[in-house]
Amino acid sequence: MPLIKSWVESANSAETDFPLNNLPYGSFVTEEGETHCGVAIGDMILDVTAMETDGVLLAEDDTDEVFFFGEWTDFMGLGPAVWASFRDKLTTLLGEENGDAPELVKYLVPQAGTEMAMPFAISEFTDFYASKNHATNVGTMFRGPENALPPNWLSIPIGYNGRASSVMISGTPVRRPWGQLKGPNDALPRFAPCARFDLELEMGAIVGQPSDDMVSVQQADDMIFGYVLLNDWSARDIQAWEYQPLGPFQAKATATSVSPWIVTKAALEGFRTSTPERERELLPHLVEPGPMLYDISLEVGLAPEGKDETIIARTNYNEMYYSSAQQLAHHTTSGCPMNVGDLLGSGTISGPEKHQRGALLELSWGGKEPITLDTGETRSFLEDGDTLSLRGAALGDGYRIGFGECVGQILPAKSDPFGTA
Ligand code: MN
Repeated sequence: MPLIKSWVESANSAETDFPLNNLPYGSFVTEEGETHCGVAIGDMILDVTAMETDGVLLAEDDTDEVFFFGEWTDFMGLGPAVWASFRDKLTTLLGEENGDAPELVKYLVPQAGTEMAMPFAISEFTDFYASKNHATNVGTMFRGPENALPPNWLSIPIGYNGRASSVMISGTPVRRPWGQLKGPNDALPRFAPCARFDLELEMGAIVGQPSDDMVSVQQADDMIFGYVLLNDWSARDIQAWEYQPLGPFQAKATATSVSPWIVTKAALEGFRTSTPERERELLPHLVEPGPMLYDISLEVGLAPEGKDETIIARTNYNEMYYSSAQQLAHHTTSGCPMNVGDLLGSGTISGPEKHQRGALLELSWGGKEPITLDTGETRSFLEDGDTLSLRGAALGDGYRIGFGECVGQILPAKSDPFGTA
């Protein structure tokens, strides 16, 4: 599909993340301090809440107040037919041909300088471990090359139940956590600030329809509303001490950042791609009936405080071994109900090459091979003041379906909270 032109000129640029082909959904804070639903178009935001209030644009006929509280949760609950018809309405309203444009100009707000808010109420957060390169690298470091991939890995999308309470919108600073760390040899463990704080480059899938029974991989794909960039901040020293036998707990509980714009499945349709060839046959209920991954180019930037950014990794979402649809289908097999607003982290996305690794743990090989930034500084893990930026886009012919940015700056740990360290 070519670029669809809009009367919003900035949306017709090959560089914008938000052409008319994209139409991602977000929430923003108005000049009056209210949170409204908005759609990104070029360098502007279309104020959907104000349009609903004025009766100019409704989610569907005879519904109102879907957008009143400035979140997309209720809209997601209306289901795929409404998702499609609403997108059609937006495409017509914002299309080049629309003669009503002058009446819509008052609903446009510049993105620059506008504060974004969480676009939906996060029901629960589950994080997976679905890139074979990442799992092999981390397993090699933690358990040695012979035991790198656990025996279940090629059959199950491995995951853990994370925390919805610490999922935050891009731009929110992240404070370095305290935690229990392994002591040297047989010495007692220590309670201290994390010294190996890390990022994880991931995609987040947003569940837009509920389930109370097992679903197929196709049904799971139909339930997904859209995708965001996701940074699963990780405390590697806490993780190394705590993770056996029940998996990560405090190491992953501090913060998870998400990009502010939900890029819908509809916008990504032309960029679908299949998971790689299976190295072991999957059980039938986890087999993909069609392509359910996406070709999304991804990059990670690291800027030391007050200094220029270095791109420390470039990879692609198509590197994953399992799709979000497979992960969601697997999630439901226990009888676990899924809700509108459930967030599924893809797992760290790492390609086969060293510069394609989506975490500092892998890039610096556990701290043994620090990376050198363009400023000349080195990094094994994150330093206080560092700003991490994830970016991503599906690249079309003359346009991009962009995700914007997922940004977070590291704040220093609190000073000795109990006076016992
Ligand atoms: Mn993760």
